[in-house]
Order: sequence, then C-alpha cells, then structure tokens
Amino acid sequence: MSAQLSALRPAAPGYVPPPITGEGFPLTDQQRELLELAGRLGREKFAPRAAQYDRDATFPFENYDDMREAGLLRICVPKAYGGLGADYLTYCLVAAEIGRHCGATALTWNMHVCSTLWSGPLADDLDMTSEQRAEHERHRAIHFERIAKHGKIYAQPFSEGSAAAAGKAPFGTLATKVEGGWILNGKKIFASLSGAADYYGILCTEDKPDRSMRDTLYMAVPADAPGFSITGDWDPLGMRGTVSRTLILKDVFVSDDAQLMPRGVYFQAASRWPHMFSTLSPTYMGLAQAAYDFTVSYLRGEVPGMPPVKRRMYPTKQVAVAEMRIKLEQTRALFLRAASDAKVDPSKDERLRVYAAQYTIMENANDIARLAIRTCGGQSMLRSLPLERIYRDSRCGSLMLPWTAELCLDRIGREALYESGEVDD
Ligand SMILES: Cc1cc2nc3c(=O)[nH]c(=O)nc-3n(C[C@H](O)[C@H](O)[C@H](O)COP(=O)(O)OP(=O)(O)OC[C@H]3O[C@@H](n4cnc5c(N)ncnc54)[C@H](O)[C@@H]3O)c2cc1C
Repeated sequence: MSAQLSALRPAAPGYVPPPITGEGFPLTDQQRELLELAGRLGREKFAPRAAQYDRDATFPFENYDDMREAGLLRICVPKAYGGLGADYLTYCLVAAEIGRHCGATALTWNMHVCSTLWSGPLADDLDMTSEQRAEHERHRAIHFERIAKHGKIYAQPFSEGSAAAAGKAPFGTLATKVEGGWILNGKKIFASLSGAADYYGILCTEDKPDRSMRDTLYMAVPADAPGFSITGDWDPLGMRGTVSRTLILKDVFVSDDAQLMPRGVYFQAASRWPHMFSTLSPTYMGLAQAAYDFTVSYLRGEVPGMPPVKRRMYPTKQVAVAEMRIKLEQTRALFLRAASDAKVDPSKDERLRVYAAQYTIMENANDIARLAIRTCGGQSMLRSLPLERIYRDSRCGSLMLPWTAELCLDRIGREALYESGEVDD
C-alpha cells in the first residue's frame, strides 16, 4: 500500500484528529512530551509501515529501532536505573497514541513495557521482607540495565492453553530449583515478539509438592538459552505483526538472577494490583480513535490518495458518525478514569470499574471499526486503506487473557453480587 494512505494527514484546513486524551485532559510535562513524540513517530514512521508488517505477518523491527532511539523501550524503567520513570497512566496514554498508528507495535510494546512496569513501580508498592527487597533490587538492576543501556527487548508469555492464563489454575510450566538457578520445562502459546525478543518473561510454577498459584515465578529466559525453541506458524486474522508463536522450554537453565520478582510476589501483585492486567487495553483505545478519525476524514473526502468525494451530507452517515462518537467518548471516559485509578489495593468500586473499562474498550474498538466500514462503504475496506486492518486488529482485543470480554463479565457479575468470603447456603 502506498505509505501516504495510512498516515491520516489532513489537507489544511480539514479534519484535525484530536489528542488521544480528548482536548482538556490535564497532562504533566512528561506526558505532553511523550505524547508528542509518540504521535510524531506514529504518523511519520509506524503508520506508513503498518500495512507491510500486517501483510507479511512480520515483526516491526524498524519501529523498535525507532522506539529504542527515542527512549521508549525504557519508558517505565525507574529513573534511578536509567529509564524515563513514567508511571502507569503515562504508559497508558502513550500506548494508546501508538495504537492509533500501528496496533501490532502498541500491543507488543505493551508486553515489553510490562516487564519493567511490574518489576519496577508496581513491585515498589508490594510487601517484601528486607531480604526479598534487597534480592529484587539486585536482580532488577540487571534487567533494567539490559533495557536502559543496551536496548534489549523483553516478551511476556504467560498463555498456555489451559486455565492458568485466565488466573484460575497454576501455570503448567515448571521451574525446579537447582544449585545457582532454576531448570524450566513447559510450553507457552501466543508468545508475542517471538523471535524478536532478547528475553522472554516466563510465568511458571515452582516445582514442589502441593504447588498452587501462590508459587508462581516470573523468570527472564534469554532467547539463546540451550533448550529454548520457537515453533509453529503465525498466520492470524489480525495483530499479525505481533508474531505470537509457540515457545518450548526443555530443561532450560536460568541463573538465580533471572527472577523478575521474588518468590510469592507475582501472586501478591495479581491480587493487589489488578490494573496490571489492563495494560493491553490502551492499544485498542488507539484503534478505536483511528477508526473514528478515518471515518471523519473519509466522509469529508480528505483521505490522501482518494478522490476528494464528500459523503458527509447524507443523514445516515451523520447518524453513524454520531453513534461512533458516542461510543468513542464512552470508551475514552472509562479508559482515562480506570488508568487514573490504578494503584495497589484499589477499592471494590475501582476494581469493578477497571473490568468495565477493559470490556468496554475491547468491545467498542471493534464495534466502532464495524460501524466505520459500514458507513464508509466498500471502497473503505480495500487493503490500500488502513480501516480493514483496524477492523481485524480490533477484533483480537476481547480475546486477550486474563481479562477477555467473557471473563470481565464473569468477574463483574460475581464480584458485584458477592462480598469477599460470602457464599450461599
Ligand atoms: C494477537 C494476540 C497476541 C497475543 N499475545 C500474547 C502474549 O504476548 N503473551 C501471552 O501470554 N498471551 C498472548 N496472547 C494470548 C491471549 O492472551 C490468550 O491467551 C489466547 O488468545 C487464548 O486463546 P485460547 O483459545 O487458548 O483460550 P481459551 O483458554 O481456550 O479460552 C477461550 C475463551 O474462553 C473463556 N475462558 C477461558 N477460561 C475461562 C474460565 N476459567 N472461565 C470462564 N471462561 C473462560 C475466555 O473468554 C476465552 O477467551 C495473544 C493473543 C492474541 C490474539
């Protein structure tokens, strides 16, 4: 596809896409600067390349080179370790801006950033003994240096095709303690960044009698570790640039410092910092905005490379755009609110809200893209334009464990009706 078509650059004085936060959302200086940076990279670099990565189902290496150079690979590495020290909300805003231009880049960047967010600011909020804290500082200094100084990429494979990724059972991948480290055995499916990451942040269970989800470990496995391999093909409906293939771990040895969190701390994080599982949703907020932006430009006859035919005068188009705008505003309001709520030990109300936000963002992104295709019409879904890719990418959001759309409904329904510990007679 020609590069210029995917980068929505309106001819003055046409439609100017609004900021991803909407006008008027209060931003810190860092947030403003990072959003400007992400917007520039997105428009000038990521959007023009997105169609090719999608068509070939290949990883966006060039985008990662750009993000590395711009400092975005270390966005959530604490400043003390050479990072930008961005917090959860800042990450979410920037991820949404990137998602607007290339869904696969934003989604994979989420996996990488989580490894720093979880072991960085999030871990600081959790209880650890002084020995655990000292051990964690030693270990994370190694991981953060790899990212901040050497630009290394971390993936985050936890899905196994069992109930584990849904948070309902221990991970089947096992880590056995040996002298100086651990031996890992298991399999991970849908590992985004497969073949592109330098390290894979494997969620696994300590191999011991009566093991439970409390025994979850979080280990960084080097891509070149003996016994580690990538298998299977990758030819999905959408998010094709994520290259999420299967990982096999067969007697893979990692040293003690591979631990991204001390024993027991991941389980504590999952229980006390629930917003950690909502970091995928900003990508889809960005896709929702992109579908809306495209539609307005298209109906105004302003999409570059297309004949300047206006379709905005038809009442049915206006109704469709109104419906899209309402869904977009609902989505954005929940997105901003839930991302601002994120903290350790949120209230029950805040928990229910983040499930509702995740559900709404994932479902509405695809619904807005659906409406966009219906109202723009047949020419809009040609592969020479970004809309059909946005439609396919946005379809994947509500499938992402542990908070799929179904599991969000499940949690909201149950937690709304039961207080902690309550059972029926
Ligand atoms: C583009 C893309 C990229 C991905 N990248 C990653 C990645 O980097 N790392 C990673 O770990 N995973 C990744 N995933 C995987 C994703 O998070 C899911 O794990 C995967 O889609 C699950 O597929 P499945 O068919 O095995 O799900 P299943 O486990 O079979 O679940 C199917 C559906 O059943 C429902 N369900 C599942 N368990 C329960 C339950 N206990 N109770 C009620 N309902 C339930 C859920 O709604 C789920 O959607 C990615 C997925 C996609 C599509």
